[in-house]
Amino acid sequence: RIRPLLAGNWKMNGTRASLDQIKAIAEGVKAPLSEKIDTLLCPPATLLYVATALCDDSPLAIGAQDCHSLVSGAHTGDISAAMIADCFGTHVIVGHSERRRNHAESDALVRAKAEAALTAELTTIICIGETADERDQGQTLDVLKRQLAASTPDGAASETTVIAYEPVWAIGTGKVPTSADVEEAHAFIRRELVARFGGDGEKFRLLYGGSVSGANAADLLAVANVNGLLVGGQSLKAADFLAIYSAF
Ligand code: 13P
Repeated sequence: RIRPLLAGNWKMNGTRASLDQIKAIAEGVKAPLSEKIDTLLCPPATLLYVATALCDDSPLAIGAQDCHSLVSGAHTGDISAAMIADCFGTHVIVGHSERRRNHAESDALVRAKAEAALTAELTTIICIGETADERDQGQTLDVLKRQLAASTPDGAASETTVIAYEPVWAIGTGKVPTSADVEEAHAFIRRELVARFGGDGEKFRLLYGGSVSGANAADLLAVANVNGLLVGGQSLKAADFLAIYSAF
């Protein structure tokens, strides 16, 4: 059985005033459930170092939302995977649709970032997902195939790499695909991973993301090949995030 992962992505939200929420999440993630699932919170980079300190005694892992493809250099405003590791971050999200859209990130760039993350020994969450237009045109699986193939490094492995399926139209909209649609997408991603990585492809964790809440988490987790959730808005408040945690 694949060990599930619950991940929260705070996006561009959170200041020092939010540290009490991180603390409450760190305290709420406890045995016996924490023995069965991994938990991760990705606050903004400004809170990374202090957040990891707050989680010293908690199974809650802390990660970042993006990284540069290089280790250091003249790249104003960017942070490297090595810097995340230096702050005791253990995970990084790459290829989130908001980065692909707002910063015109290509699959090739996402792949380079994922390679940098793997080199820094960070667990890497690679996000893929179709837009509403792509879905309407029946291109969902083609988009997933292309993004997965081109954004995932050859050196990826189930131990170090997680794939998150986030339909762009489901992010922050309250719209969630049907269980049948999630099942189809995740089964397709699974098949593609097995075709590329052989038996190890069976072991990659596949997360669903997009308008996840305490109300729909259990239904999503019941879908085949859903090995965890990537949560945006409902990860900001400890009570909401812990309600999702309880659904595992
Ligand atoms: P929401 O949960 O706010 O829809 O965001 C999902 C997401 O983009 C997580 O990375």
